[in-house]
Amino acid sequence: MIRFEQVSVSYADAPAPALAGVDLTVPEGELCLLVGPSGVGKSTLLGAVSGLVPHFTGGTLRGRVTVAGRDTRTHRPRELADVVGTVGQDPLAHFVTDTVEDELAYGMESLGLPGDTMRRRVEETLDLLGLADLRDRPITTLSGGQRQRVAIGSVLTTHPRVLVLDEPTSALDPAAAEEVLAVLQRLVHDLGTTVLMAEHRLERVVQYADRVVLLPGPGEPPVTGDPAEVMAV
Ligand code: ADP
Ligand code: ADP
Repeated sequence: MIRFEQVSVSYADAPAPALAGVDLTVPEGELCLLVGPSGVGKSTLLGAVSGLVPHFTGGTLRGRVTVAGRDTRTHRPRELADVVGTVGQDPLAHFVTDTVEDELAYGMESLGLPGDTMRRRVEETLDLLGLADLRDRPITTLSGGQRQRVAIGSVLTTHPRVLVLDEPTSALDPAAAEEVLAVLQRLVHDLGTTVLMAEHRLERVVQYADRVVLLPGPGEPPVTGDPAEVMAV
């Protein structure tokens, strides 16, 4: 579902490439965890999947990244929106509406979907993420875990085949983190969504992963394996 072939990314003002010669395959319907120390290129790698690199955050991309067969260098993020959904680190920074229900609808508006499809998908997503009781609540009154579920929901209503998340639990307490991870696991198992998620705190998250991709150091190739194998490295 996601394939990197000899991918390197360099930023103009940086002395060394953020990624060098990365080969990587993430099969459909897996929850794949991307780990490694800070500054090793995790956000850059996620950005190359969603098309933010090179279209929005700069960086020169060499090699080829494809998502569901689409080249992310020749397709702008808008042209990937029906395939890849992206959830950033700080959901509060991205909320654009007031209530939970409006926020879930917002992600679909740019896709120009008919009103009845939008309403049906909002209902589906409220149920799927356990948000039905909160639909009219202002987002500012929600807990961290609830907000993160809304952020995921606003992307899910576009029915992406791939969901990319940058440290979705880093701002959450352990209980809220579990809430979010359980939701992601359900997406993978019930809907066959492919999830690629960066985290720097491995221990709490690794039990949810089908596959772990470790970026061991700047410019070093990724090590991919099942969670137990990579934990032993
Ligand atoms: P991580 O997510 O693992 O912390 P990043 O992908 O954010 O790593 O960063 C990898 C390297 O690229 C770092 O050295 C960082 O400073 C640099 N970098 C990231 N984004 C940019 C940018 N937009 N411009 C210049 N350098 C960047
Ligand atoms: P549409 O919205 O395209 O008219 P439906 O709402 O009927 O279609 O959903 C089509 C199928 O997608 C349903 O079987 C539904 O359960 C499933 N589905 C629901 N949410 C998601 C999601 N987030 N990602 C992928 N499939 C989903």
